[in-house]
Amino acid sequence: MPENPVEELAELVAGLSEWLRYQRRLGLRGLPRQAAAPGEAEPAPQAPEIFTLDEIRAEMGDCRRCKLYKGRTNLVFGEGRPDADLMFVGEAPGADEDQQGRPFVGAAGGLLNNLLSKLGLNREEVYIANILKSRPPGNRDPEADEIAACLPFLKMQIAAIRPRVIVTLGRIAAHALLGTKEPLTRLRGRWQQYDHVRVMPTFHPSYLLRAPQERRKTWEDMQQVMEYLASRED
Ligand code: URA
Repeated sequence: MPENPVEELAELVAGLSEWLRYQRRLGLRGLPRQAAAPGEAEPAPQAPEIFTLDEIRAEMGDCRRCKLYKGRTNLVFGEGRPDADLMFVGEAPGADEDQQGRPFVGAAGGLLNNLLSKLGLNREEVYIANILKSRPPGNRDPEADEIAACLPFLKMQIAAIRPRVIVTLGRIAAHALLGTKEPLTRLRGRWQQYDHVRVMPTFHPSYLLRAPQERRKTWEDMQQVMEYLASRED
């Protein structure tokens, strides 16, 4: 977070204008008015416009909405089945992902692939994306203005895919998508909700590479996800 109030204000304005652009793309044509007076008819709700993944990718273009474009080799949009029931959301591309333009292709991706195959899944049947689409320098944590600029695109991807379950990988993804600051140790393993979609927060594969003793917990979290996906409950 910037210490300087002018920078802080600029960050707020950038976040707000990106949010308004996003709302406009979703079909909002004005700010919500007050509730109708008694006897007055409520305006008909507008159906939000849903974009396809290709349209969202085209809208991003050679994105320069935050400073991360300066150091990136490739934008990492996300990949997988466009109508996947299960979607994974990580934090941001690392060096390998930046080089290849694909999410989770480095060491953390290897662990994610193992987890998927143990669950009887492969990458082609799920969708994998990140909170940020450009690599932060030296893999530092994403900054608030970067999340504010990029998150609307992830939200549009979710609206296009309409997964039944989203698994967030790590603290940053859970906090950004759910808009909470609750510690991951308390969030993980407990169903959350984002816009009518069930969300299961779990550990990030990079953390599990450093702390293999925690892998069992992610395995248990994924068992809940698989049980729910196997049920027709919605
Ligand atoms: N870590 C992430 O959070 N995302 C990736 O795509 C790779 C590593």
